[in-house]
Amino acid sequence: MAVENRRVRVRFAPSPTGPLHIGGVRTALYNYLFARQNGGDLIFRIEDTDSNRFVEGAEEYILESFRWLGIKFDEGVSFGGNYGPYRQSERRDIYKKYVQILLDSGKAYMAFDTPEELDQKRAEIDNFQYDASTRMQMRNSLSMTAGEVQALIDAGHQYVVRFKVEPGEKVVVNDLIRGVVTIDSTILDDKVLYKSADELPTYHLANIVDDHLMEVSHVIRGEEWLPSAPLHVLLYRAFGWEDTMPQFAHLSLLLKPEGNGKLSKRDGDRLGFPVFPLEWHDPKSGAVSSGFRESDYLPEAVINFLALLGWNPGDDVELMTMEDLIAKFDLSKCSKAGARFDYKKMIWFNHEYILKKSDKEIAGIFMPVVKSHSVEVAPELLEKIVSLMKGRVNFVHELWDASSFYFIAPETYDEKTAKKRWKEDSAQKMGELADLLESLDDFSIENQDAAVHRWIEEKGYGMGEIMNAFRLALVGEGKGPQMFDISGLIGKEEALKRLRRAIEVLG
Ligand code: GLU
Repeated sequence: MAVENRRVRVRFAPSPTGPLHIGGVRTALYNYLFARQNGGDLIFRIEDTDSNRFVEGAEEYILESFRWLGIKFDEGVSFGGNYGPYRQSERRDIYKKYVQILLDSGKAYMAFDTPEELDQKRAEIDNFQYDASTRMQMRNSLSMTAGEVQALIDAGHQYVVRFKVEPGEKVVVNDLIRGVVTIDSTILDDKVLYKSADELPTYHLANIVDDHLMEVSHVIRGEEWLPSAPLHVLLYRAFGWEDTMPQFAHLSLLLKPEGNGKLSKRDGDRLGFPVFPLEWHDPKSGAVSSGFRESDYLPEAVINFLALLGWNPGDDVELMTMEDLIAKFDLSKCSKAGARFDYKKMIWFNHEYILKKSDKEIAGIFMPVVKSHSVEVAPELLEKIVSLMKGRVNFVHELWDASSFYFIAPETYDEKTAKKRWKEDSAQKMGELADLLESLDDFSIENQDAAVHRWIEEKGYGMGEIMNAFRLALVGEGKGPQMFDISGLIGKEEALKRLRRAIEVLG
């Protein structure tokens, strides 16, 4: 089957070595967008053949991250499917069979060199590389007789299987983002594909065998895997799978917000933003790393921000839903150059999504914050408060500081504001205002507004002096929205109580 007509099948294949870095999340997102756009499948495969690097809880963490972000898989670990098992540690027998195929066809060989012997060679030869130029000086099934090899195996010696790279061959990597990259196989070393000690393949072999067996059509992954691509091309060739070799697309690096180099967790710690989707508790050290979820980012904002790190739709539209992204995403328009991680832009996205979401939804997220301050409030009232206040915050939890005066009467009055805004005659005027408000049967915002304005005019008072003192009495400081939005929402009784207390305290 020609590659162009294949069903689109892509995979996200993390190694469970810790929390998922934000770069990995972007890789998964691009795979997801590409799969959805093409009506294809997204596979979740766990690459856990390196048992030394296995970290307890990492797999569940990764799955939970995608649930939170709304990236959905069609098959794989925990999702099922017809190509399983999807956890590489459960596929030993499959890999053994394919290692044997390479051995039988002379495309790979067994090597018995101990770590000490390899070290010695490295000391002897400058820039030592295990390849066509050195392999006959080493202890392997090419340099030894079949009898010698068998004797070592019978005596229980461990070995590795190495790929036999033929020098002087042209290797072409056709990358959808980077174009055609051609290298000479002479620069490649005879990579280890399998270790008898744990009967497990290395990343390279398992990755290629699985991509082939799972009928993966496109390999979309981070730039750090680009150096492995020529070897992978040669492996497809060695197995005779060139016709169904996936198309490669290596994504650009995520760069520090400022300065040079790759984004790291330290940048996040230094500048105060997370680099992991969820909070991570390291099972060994107990160290806690912050996550986007716990730092109060909305998943939609994180997705939108990440989608634009290394890709843009070419128009000026920045706010896009997952549906928009699926429709617009274009793998061939992803940039080769690294993408700067502009965390301030990420905060902007969060603000925009707070505005974009309904007041009801934001109130639903805010409600537990309110309850954590032991405040009971009706959902409808909270919705109104949210609608008045959400334009002022970047994170939902910030709504508390911005609006706690709705729920809690001021106990003290900001000194500076009081000095400036509470005048000699303020108590008397606020007393008049309290009487006026008390007399209103209709306490609607409009009616208060009209009545108070009339009174101010009749008395010839200044609008500013009245409103400033009124605000100080109800809020305790100089902030907040329109005054009648405040008095209207807290209600007549509470507004009068606050006014009279301010008169008493401030005098
Ligand atoms: N296991 C590799 C990783 O952790 C997968 C690389 C690939 O996608 O080929 O990213």
